[in-house]
Amino acid sequence: MGTWIKETDKAIYLMEGGYYRQKIDKSPRQGDVDGETFFRTKLLKAWLNSDDAPGFFLASVGTGTDEPRPLPTPPTPLPPVIPPSEQGIKITKVPNQVKIYHPYQLAGTTSDDLVGQTVSLYVDNNQRPIAQTTVNANKQWAFQSIFLAVPKPQMRRLKVVAGQATDIASLTLTPYIEKHPGAQKLALSASVGSGGANRSSDVKLVRDRLVALGYDFAAGSSINNLIQAIQLFQSAISGVTALRGDGRVDVGGRTQGFLQAANAPKWMRMPGQGVGFYNVEVLDQPGDSHDYGIDWISNVIRAAGIHYELAYRKNRSDVAPMAINDVSLPKGGRTPDHAGHQSGNAGDIVLPHKGGKFGGTRWSNSNYDRDATEAILKALRAQPWVDKNTLYFNDPALISKGLCRRAGGHDNHIHFEIDVPPQI
Ligand SMILES: [Zn+2]
Repeated sequence: MGTWIKETDKAIYLMEGGYYRQKIDKSPRQGDVDGETFFRTKLLKAWLNSDDAPGFFLASVGTGTDEPRPLPTPPTPLPPVIPPSEQGIKITKVPNQVKIYHPYQLAGTTSDDLVGQTVSLYVDNNQRPIAQTTVNANKQWAFQSIFLAVPKPQMRRLKVVAGQATDIASLTLTPYIEKHPGAQKLALSASVGSGGANRSSDVKLVRDRLVALGYDFAAGSSINNLIQAIQLFQSAISGVTALRGDGRVDVGGRTQGFLQAANAPKWMRMPGQGVGFYNVEVLDQPGDSHDYGIDWISNVIRAAGIHYELAYRKNRSDVAPMAINDVSLPKGGRTPDHAGHQSGNAGDIVLPHKGGKFGGTRWSNSNYDRDATEAILKALRAQPWVDKNTLYFNDPALISKGLCRRAGGHDNHIHFEIDVPPQI
């Protein structure tokens, strides 16, 4: 239906049939001629420039006409004509810098009507939000998220959408990679590794690159160590938790592509502690060396820890931190303690106790803290690179909430794995 504009003593209306969609109230003009009014024209400009521009203007000033009533059904949303000042959602906190692999926070406020509504964060043109939260009673919302990959050019467009998708705010961020060797072209003449041509100049290129990425055990003259490092790297970039891969870098293949990538997975010792998390394995178990993994999982742990802290724990000493246990052995590979955990991309979390301690308990024990565990699972699920299908834990109450899945041997810990981001 076409629109039109009606002006009365009190307001200017964007009409549809006999009802109005939007209105601009007139204000008395101060200190001037009696009866003069004024109105702000921003919304009027938007009406006139919309696809569905008004067909005529009816001036009914001083005629005693009744003020029109709003459309009885919810008015058709008009996102393109809502100027920024009228939006129901605002971004108030944007990071100055965003490092890839490091969690960042985004926060804002909304109008009253959006309290309790879901807020979704979208990146670029993706149809699926990467994170969701709820507007709290103080009209505030916040996200913690993390970039594990950026396309070229590196600028990312973020969109925050609340309620019925008519309330949108957007921004751009330019993430960068810190303390990482970055992209490096490997000009290979032939294949390197198991059954490869293994020309010495090519072997050196691959070995140097792997060592720069933290796979120290690839150094030295042993081709077997190099093959082992290649296979570990291949398993990480395939997202599998048991070693897999032919141990060879073929020219133009996926392994070479990821070796060259700016976000090639770095092999590293896992962080000992940070906001919201504590690594039992690294700090309390010197005799057990499942301390290693790739930077992708390290940063997911950091991001989930921040999420858990902000969303639930808030420095309460009676609530346990997220307590990380085994990732992988110093060179990855098979371990007697686990079926998987060979590729540096899977980790375990021991259970929180009521009162703030952790570990050495199971979901059926009375000291088990279910509320904290639920918050930990939510913090993990809020991370876009946590694989939701391999989040294992056997508490039936949390399984019935859709937060985790059952798997043998997971009564006393949570197991999580991470997905593979695209190469950049
Ligand atoms: Zn596990």
